Amino acid sequence: MIMHSKKHWAPGSGVKVLRVVRMGKDGWKVYASIPEKGICPGCGIRSRRRHGWRLRRLQDYPAHGETVTVELRIGRWRCTFQDCSRSTFSDEVSVAAPHARRTARTAQIASHLGHATGGRPAERLMRRLGMPVSDDTILRHLKHNAAGAAPPARIIGLDDWSWRKTWRYGTIVVDLERRSVVDILEDRSVESAAHWLRRNPSVEVVSRDRCGLYAQAVREGAPQAIQIADRFHLVQNLRLAVEEQMSLSGRSTGRSILSEEDNVDAALHRRRARLAHRQSRDEVFATIHSLHSEGLSYCEIERRTGYKRRTVAKWLKFETPPDRRRAALNPRAPWYFEKFLAQCWKDGNRCGRHLFHDVKERGYTGSFSNLERLLGPVGPKLRFWPSEEQKTNVPTSFAPLRRSHGCQPRLSNGGSRRY
Ligand SMILES: [Zn+2]
Repeated sequence: MIMHSKKHWAPGSGVKVLRVVRMGKDGWKVYASIPEKGICPGCGIRSRRRHGWRLRRLQDYPAHGETVTVELRIGRWRCTFQDCSRSTFSDEVSVAAPHARRTARTAQIASHLGHATGGRPAERLMRRLGMPVSDDTILRHLKHNAAGAAPPARIIGLDDWSWRKTWRYGTIVVDLERRSVVDILEDRSVESAAHWLRRNPSVEVVSRDRCGLYAQAVREGAPQAIQIADRFHLVQNLRLAVEEQMSLSGRSTGRSILSEEDNVDAALHRRRARLAHRQSRDEVFATIHSLHSEGLSYCEIERRTGYKRRTVAKWLKFETPPDRRRAALNPRAPWYFEKFLAQCWKDGNRCGRHLFHDVKERGYTGSFSNLERLLGPVGPKLRFWPSEEQKTNVPTSFAPLRRSHGCQPRLSNGGSRRY
């Protein structure tokens, strides 16, 4: 079957289509030629001495879902210039790269698909589209294009890269201006990262994590580069600082960032809520006991009060409402030294660091932040602590006290943290 309409079969400008033939299962074959020029690519001098012909078979866009092969006839020439290193040469083909087996536009589609989906999915798609190409070829071209297109990286990101999560880690180097991976190093060490940086002196800015390893590598390998913390770690720093600040009030409720008056109001509110809860427990306890003394059964008490039989039975064992169960105290918990801390506070020893030192001498094995949480911004949350009326002359905030005693609040440590 011979096609007479040749206009749309040309793989690009400058290619003259001679004829198009249907090859059965092999799709279409386009016989074409390019204008003869005879200009040597080595010396640029035009030659008149023909050496022969050469056929190049190039895969092109499909037609009606079937493969198209362009058979291009190219002239070969002999270079007559004595000083030229080439003795023979072929005419240059504009529609395909030298030695390529497909036209530039087909290779571009394979490259795009490979970049978007990976080797094997791209291979399947290309076959389905009528441009069969192997996954190896797709990946090879992808790597070749990536290596050839990358200019020296100026602003890079250094971070961990897991070859296998929790088992083996390498280092990934990303060009942050082009948002592309520049290199992946085998391991995660100062030596390899510093070596890479020495081989790439164009690096001006390095964005890295807070781990000291890459900081050291940059100091050794690229002392000229500016080190900055990447966005993820900056946000992480902010989150930790906010959490630390909030934990000063013992709970992450945001109370600490409120004013002192608000803090006192919140503490009063919590105290009243606890009292109300306690009173309601007392009432329930009294009701259960009175119903029981009237001779009612557990089932009837359960029906009237809504409490389960087991709870009713438990409460009837006690003379007074049982205390809510608290975990057994140990020297890790600041509550273990509650009495001592309350005494210190009354005696005027209110510096967090001093109290920490004193309780440690008495066997405290917990952290300073735990102790800080107990003492809180509105004074100690201790049972031995004086009532609201007795507290009138006591400063309401713990933080200013620490400052006046020369102890810095914890956030200032976070603020001076080096990035
Ligand atoms: Zn030449």
